[in-house]
Amino acid sequence: MKQETAKSAALFERAEHVIPGGVNSPVRAFKAVGGTPRFITSATGAWLRDADGNDYIDLIGSWGPMIMGHSRPEVVAAVQEAAVKGFSFGTPSTGEVELAEEIVARVDPVEQVRLVSSGTEATMSAIRLARGYTGRAKIVKFAGCYHGHVDALLAQAGSGLATFSLPDTPGVTGAQASDTIVVDYNDTAGLEAVFAEHGDEIACVITEASPGNMGVVPPRDGFTNTIRRLTKAHGALMVSDEVMTGFRVSAAGWYGFDSESLGYPDGPADLFTFGKVMGGGFPAAAFGGRADVMEHLAPTGPVYQAGTLSGNPVATAAGLTTLKLTTELDVYSHISRAADILRPAVAASLEAEGVEHTIQSANSMFSVFFTDREVINYDGARMQNVERYSAFFNAMLDQGIHMPPSAFEAWFLSYAHTDEILDRIITALPAAAKAAA
Ligand code: PLP
Repeated sequence: MKQETAKSAALFERAEHVIPGGVNSPVRAFKAVGGTPRFITSATGAWLRDADGNDYIDLIGSWGPMIMGHSRPEVVAAVQEAAVKGFSFGTPSTGEVELAEEIVARVDPVEQVRLVSSGTEATMSAIRLARGYTGRAKIVKFAGCYHGHVDALLAQAGSGLATFSLPDTPGVTGAQASDTIVVDYNDTAGLEAVFAEHGDEIACVITEASPGNMGVVPPRDGFTNTIRRLTKAHGALMVSDEVMTGFRVSAAGWYGFDSESLGYPDGPADLFTFGKVMGGGFPAAAFGGRADVMEHLAPTGPVYQAGTLSGNPVATAAGLTTLKLTTELDVYSHISRAADILRPAVAASLEAEGVEHTIQSANSMFSVFFTDREVINYDGARMQNVERYSAFFNAMLDQGIHMPPSAFEAWFLSYAHTDEILDRIITALPAAAKAAA
């Protein structure tokens, strides 16, 4: 049943006057799916409440961070406790040491981390460090991987750009773009050819550990190790972007999951980037890796990187408490089980209506492509029927389930997605599948 949305519509109209497109991040717009974006006034557990008083089951989870669900009492308490002690010191503080130690303890190849405030800052800084460390200019990224809105990384950047059919973006200079080489994801021969031609000019290859920003497109067997083998052979660094997968797909992110299942015969990445879950909904992110590389950062080394709010005490309290809860409560098993329940239910409802689809997973992270072909790269992701996704999205929204307003995203599950919540989602699926047919 459609909700009353007059208050969200009025807010959107006001927003459009003072904020470009009415949103502070393009993926929040409903441009691709139609209708009025809901203005959320509060959120608890798996639920969002909008300005009109409608409740929605949340499958966005703030695009990843809310792995514990919203307003988790322990996180609220930690934030309150930190806030009364001061908001920001601009000096070293206890929480940042604890958060850095937690990350280093979880992800074996990460010996040191530098905290920043967003995933964009993390990838931007990792690339600067790779360039400073190697003395080389070029970087390699994969089409369909999004690493934040870093100038050098916005070529064929998936997700938001795919949603709005933007190939690239004005505002990135030719010089910046010319140092970025874009290769198709999962294209071993393409990557080998690039290294054969430019091997000694490449500072790093950056990859989403397991891409989620063109929808979920996991690496084919051996692809991640190919990146490692080639970077190592040519003296370049490998940067594994775990902003989305980090502390979501396992306690040690994709690295933890993948190193157990597939292994990296040629070793792990040199640098990693993190964000989202590690801030628990607050602005905290990080980049880290081998100590001998990280020591090239100022003040021990010459590569400059800094931040007024880096390691913010309220954000680190939220992040640390969230991370601790994920292991204490075995959140990873909970989310895996929830995904195992949801995936076949989605497939069954789409099959019942004869709707072509492919469900792809990176452990518990999954997305539904409206195509019957396996998706291995960005071109494949863009072959899906986005009109079908829009119809599916709107039918779910009408039934009080808020999915990402883009066909190029994962469904974000949390500890608050209990069996009762999953049942409600499953009950809504047949009507959404019918709408997509
Ligand atoms: N890297 C990946 C893999 C991401 O998914 C994102 C955001 O979606 C980013 C980097 C950028 O993070 P932020 O939005 O915090 O700047």
